Amino acid sequence: MAKKLVIAGGGHAHMTTLENLHRFVERGHQVTVIGPSDHHYYSGMGPGMLGNTYAPEEVRFATRQVVEKQGCIFIRDKITGIDGEGQNVRLESGDTIPYDVLSCNLGSQVPRRIIAGELEDIYLVKPIERLLAAQRRIVELGRQKSIRVGIVGGGPSAVEIAGNVWRLIQDSKLRPAQIKILTKSTIMPNHREGIRKRAVDSLKKRGIVIHENCETDRISTGKISESNGKTHDLDIIFVAIGITPNPVFADSGLQVGMDGGMLVNRYLQSTAHDNIFGGGDCICFQDKPLDKVGVYAVRQNPILLHNLLARLEGKELQPFEPGGRYLLIFNLGDGTGILNKWSIQIGGRLAFMAKDYIDRRFMKRFQRIE
Ligand SMILES: Cc1cc2nc3c(=O)[nH]c(=O)nc-3n(C[C@H](O)[C@H](O)[C@H](O)COP(=O)(O)OP(=O)(O)OC[C@H]3O[C@@H](n4cnc5c(N)ncnc54)[C@H](O)[C@@H]3O)c2cc1C
Repeated sequence: MAKKLVIAGGGHAHMTTLENLHRFVERGHQVTVIGPSDHHYYSGMGPGMLGNTYAPEEVRFATRQVVEKQGCIFIRDKITGIDGEGQNVRLESGDTIPYDVLSCNLGSQVPRRIIAGELEDIYLVKPIERLLAAQRRIVELGRQKSIRVGIVGGGPSAVEIAGNVWRLIQDSKLRPAQIKILTKSTIMPNHREGIRKRAVDSLKKRGIVIHENCETDRISTGKISESNGKTHDLDIIFVAIGITPNPVFADSGLQVGMDGGMLVNRYLQSTAHDNIFGGGDCICFQDKPLDKVGVYAVRQNPILLHNLLARLEGKELQPFEPGGRYLLIFNLGDGTGILNKWSIQIGGRLAFMAKDYIDRRFMKRFQRIE
C-alpha cells in the first residue's frame, strides 16, 4: 500500500536516499523532502569556499531540483517539532505534514549562549552558507580599511577558517588585515602533537596570531570579552566553538542521547518510534557515540536508503557498522593541507591535493543528477 515518507533535512546522510527517490515513487510511495534552502552545502569544502578556492556552485547540491525531478515534493521550510505519536512534523510556517515513515538529517548548530544580540558581523561556522555572507562582508570592509578578524575556537574549523580568511584577503588584494584565533586551551587539542604543530606553524608563518588559554565569555558585534575582563575589538567575528545536535528532538520530547541528538539503535532507528530514522550530526548512536564528522554521515547513506525502503515495505532492516578510523584532511588555505589517518601524517600540497580530489569526486557523484 502507498505510504508517506517524509525526509527531514537534505544533509550529508541523505545523499544516497535523495539520489534514489525515484525508487520510492516507482513503488507508489509519496515522498516529501523538507529543508530551509533549495541547496545543501558540503561542509568539507565550506572553508575553501570562504577562501575563494571554490565557487558556491561547486560546493552545493541542488536539493529541490533533485527532489522535484524524481516526482517528489520539496517544501522550503524548517521543521520545528516532531509528533511521534501523531506521526506528523510541524513546520515554521505553521503547517503540519503527516508521515508513515520519517527520516531525519537535521544536522547540528553552533551554541549561541555566549553571543549577545544579533549576528551582525558575527558568523557562526554553521550553516555553511553563512561563510558566503562572511566572505562578501570581508571583501566589502577590506576594500575600505585594514580589518580585524577574530575566530573564537581552536578546533579544525577554527584553523581552516583562519587559514582561508588569510587566503581571501591575499587573493582579493584587500588591505593588510589582522587575523587572530582565541582558543580556550591550545590549537586542535584533540589531535596529535605533530598535527597541532603543523597547523600552528602554518598559521604563525602567515602572521595569524594565536591566543591560547583564552576563555571567551561574551561575544557581541565588534567585541569579544574574555572571562578575565580583557576585551578584543574586531570587525568580523567567527564562532567555531563546537556544535550541538539540532534541538528539535529534545524540544519535541523524543528520546535523546547525552549530547541531545535523537537516540538511535544500530538500525539508525529512533529508540522511541520505530518509524523514525536518522543520520549525521543530529543523531546519538546508542551503541557508541560517534564523532560529529561528515564521514559518519556519508557512511550511513546506504543503510538509511535500505532501511527506509525496508520499513515502508515490511522487510528486514540492516544494521549500521560505524567502521574504523577515518581519514581527516584539513585545508589550511594556502594550497597546503594536513592529512591524518592512524599514525600517518602528511603535510603540504600533496595533502591538500588529496582533499581536493576526494571532495570534488564526492560532489561530482551527487551533483550529476542536476
Ligand atoms: C567549517 C567546517 C568544516 C568541516 N569540515 C569537515 C570535513 O572536512 N570532513 C568531515 O568529515 N567533517 C567536516 N565537518 C563536520 C561536518 O560539517 C558535519 O559532521 C556534517 O555537516 C554533518 O552532516 P549532516 O548532514 O548531519 O549535517 P548538516 O551538514 O548540518 O546538514 C543538515 C541539513 O539539514 C537542514 N536543516 C537544518 N535544520 C533544519 C530544520 N529545522 N528543518 C529542515 N531542515 C533542516 C540543513 O539545511 C542541512 O541541509 C566540518 C564542519 C565545519 C563547521
